[in-house]
Amino acid sequence: MKDLMLSEAGFLALNAGSSSLKVALFPAGGDEPLMTGQADRIGPEGALKLKDQDGEVLENAPGLIDSHTNALAVVIATIKRVFPELRMAAVGHRVVHGGLDYAEPVLVTEEVLAKLADLEPFAPLHQPHNIAGIRAAEEAFPGVPQVACFDTAFHRGQPFVNDTFAIPHRYYEKGVRRYGFHGLSYDYVTSELARIAPHLMQGRVVVAHLGNGASMCAIYRGKSVASSMGFSALDGLPMGTRCGQIDPGVMLYMLDRENLDTAQIRQILYNESGLLGLSGGLSNDMRTLEQADNAQSHRAIDYFVFRVQRELGAMAAVMGGIDALVFCGGIGENSRVVRRRVCERLGWMGIEIDHGKNAENATILSSEFSRTTVMIVNTREDLVIARAARSAAGITEGTDA
Ligand code: AMP
Repeated sequence: MKDLMLSEAGFLALNAGSSSLKVALFPAGGDEPLMTGQADRIGPEGALKLKDQDGEVLENAPGLIDSHTNALAVVIATIKRVFPELRMAAVGHRVVHGGLDYAEPVLVTEEVLAKLADLEPFAPLHQPHNIAGIRAAEEAFPGVPQVACFDTAFHRGQPFVNDTFAIPHRYYEKGVRRYGFHGLSYDYVTSELARIAPHLMQGRVVVAHLGNGASMCAIYRGKSVASSMGFSALDGLPMGTRCGQIDPGVMLYMLDRENLDTAQIRQILYNESGLLGLSGGLSNDMRTLEQADNAQSHRAIDYFVFRVQRELGAMAAVMGGIDALVFCGGIGENSRVVRRRVCERLGWMGIEIDHGKNAENATILSSEFSRTTVMIVNTREDLVIARAARSAAGITEGTDA
């Protein structure tokens, strides 16, 4: 385990979900966390596990974590026990919605929290938990700067045509817009491309963040110009349990003909659709579906691949071509099958992957004949949050990137 200097500064990156809390503790210099972990199923059966950088378990609290505050208390007790000299310098938080105001991370004040609370109707399943995470951290670390990092921020400069829906313009004025999400991941991928392939950042890149949540982003000269997610985290690609793009007429059918109420429809669209719904309830998990290799799993994977290809074609079209396709997220980084199938028949787009490199999960997947670069970037949302926290505390960069 890394020795810490006396009173070395630490930075905590927190990602609070509805029933989970992901944590990563970073040193002042360096991009590798000293400690990572996660609380899951927060409630009567909530459990939490924390590990050090060698994978050694520092804390294992099965069945004891009934609130985010409680989870954070265990995290803090562990930090104090394992890193007694560490001084918490700033805490960074993933916040799903920054609305129209925030195109950058922001230092949290009461005024900022009030604005974030106003955005709860736009992200009812995420925003309240993000705010609860900030409140819990404020309580745990009094006086320590708290920094909110927004999933919407990366997309804020998008052109009007990708920002709007074709409904009466008054809704646009009210903030009913296509915000796009997964911005922390796109931010990280962009910063990695600028480091390892700077020429691509002058061009046209499509990033496919394919995980349990999935979206794609068209990035022209480093800026988001189109994203598949829209007003909520439901739009675009099918996800583990979320539907992705849907004709709004289907919801009217559910309301009018099936007499479902909004809570029932929300449950279907957020929790029973996507890969889980397509596979007839078999699984929301791509790895499980690949292993199942039956008619149900084929249905789900076929649709997923079809939608990624379709979105890719649309994004290449609006940018006037494509110079690079980047895969990230649990599926993008690990599923050889999905990557191979997405890239099939894309020769017209200049895409040709090397199957050997694809099998190895190599960083560059494109063959020597490919006009378009195809890559994997292992995305690090935790690091984007930690960097924002460091910068709020006046430290600009890690040292071992
Ligand atoms: P994430 O939400 O980014 O953690 O991604 C989770 C998704 O990645 C799940 O659907 C997993 O099944 C999928 N995944 C992770 N590892 C693999 C793998 N080796 N092969 C296929 N899918 C994977």
